[in-house]
Amino acid sequence: MENTIKVPENTIESIWQQKPLIISGPCSAETEEQVIKGAEDLAATGKVNVFRAGIWKPRTKPGMFEGVGAAGLPWLQEAKKRTGLPMAVEVATAKQVEQALAHDVDMLWIGARTTVNPFSVQEIADALQGAKVPVFIKNPINADIELWSGAMERISRASISKIGLIHRGFSSYGNTQYRNAPMWHLAIDMKLRYPDAVMINDPSHICGRRDTLQAVMQKAADLDYDGLMIESHIDPDNAWSDAAQQITAERLNELLDQIQWRKEDANSVSYHTALEAIRQKINQLDDELLQLLSRRMMFAEEIAQYKKANNITILQAGRWSEVLDNAIKTGEKKGLSKDFITKYYDAIHIESINHQKKIMDAQD
Ligand code: PEP
Ligand code: MN
Repeated sequence: MENTIKVPENTIESIWQQKPLIISGPCSAETEEQVIKGAEDLAATGKVNVFRAGIWKPRTKPGMFEGVGAAGLPWLQEAKKRTGLPMAVEVATAKQVEQALAHDVDMLWIGARTTVNPFSVQEIADALQGAKVPVFIKNPINADIELWSGAMERISRASISKIGLIHRGFSSYGNTQYRNAPMWHLAIDMKLRYPDAVMINDPSHICGRRDTLQAVMQKAADLDYDGLMIESHIDPDNAWSDAAQQITAERLNELLDQIQWRKEDANSVSYHTALEAIRQKINQLDDELLQLLSRRMMFAEEIAQYKKANNITILQAGRWSEVLDNAIKTGEKKGLSKDFITKYYDAIHIESINHQKKIMDAQD
């Protein structure tokens, strides 16, 4: 293949300052041709700063494609030679760090499945001692910013000075809208905790699909993220991993054209960010309240089935006044007025009776 498209010679120093910092490339390196063509297509957009490719893939189940391994590292070197794009790979063990550094990989990232494990993060930190390479840390799979923070501390103690954070969302049971729920407030809390860290968003692993990428990318831009890591592939439908979420370089180019990056002074951005963090916490709680209320109604319906089978009336006044009295006592201890609790419980009671009535009235 001929040396065609090449981005201008960029130092890691200047790339690190770049905002928005755009990292893109396939979920997994599959073949040399796919890596090189992928990098050339991205370089041609003129909008991508770093090429990513997974070489070692931590997969949920055995038997899935687990990456090409170290054999893929020379492909990245060749892609860099042809395009000038710096290369980034995920590392999960000391050996992978050594192999990546031995092949001049420019940036490393720690994946979500690794950030959860302090032993693995420490092993990586030990292998990094003295290295100059920038390291990105993805949020852990579970919604725990202390683990994320702990990984940040371990890597910074290894004297790595360029540490970035990647927000890729959190695994949550039963969530359907996202592959990994963004829980924006957790990433914002992390950013407030480490205001100097580069924080980028990974819409690909949050969405798990293509049609919602743009909304998540824009949200990240609105929240003053420093950039994006987004998966792209020369033939997304036939990718060997994460096919549903990958896009072509051409589509990435279009999406990046549509994103509006905020340009505000530092004060208003941090004000906006802090306010948004609180709003996101409220949204999260409201969401949980609705889920709990819906589960509560499911139990009411279960009770209705039982009452119906045993020919008992829906309304049992004694039981309800006991529930309400308890709620008023607990609520008052938590700073909630008797008036509010009474109205809130009345509303719940009416809804619950309606659910029960539907069951009682249904013809068997
Ligand atoms: C990836 O970036 O391909 C990856 C494995 O991501 P995560 O660690 O976020 O699951
Ligand atoms: Mn992936």
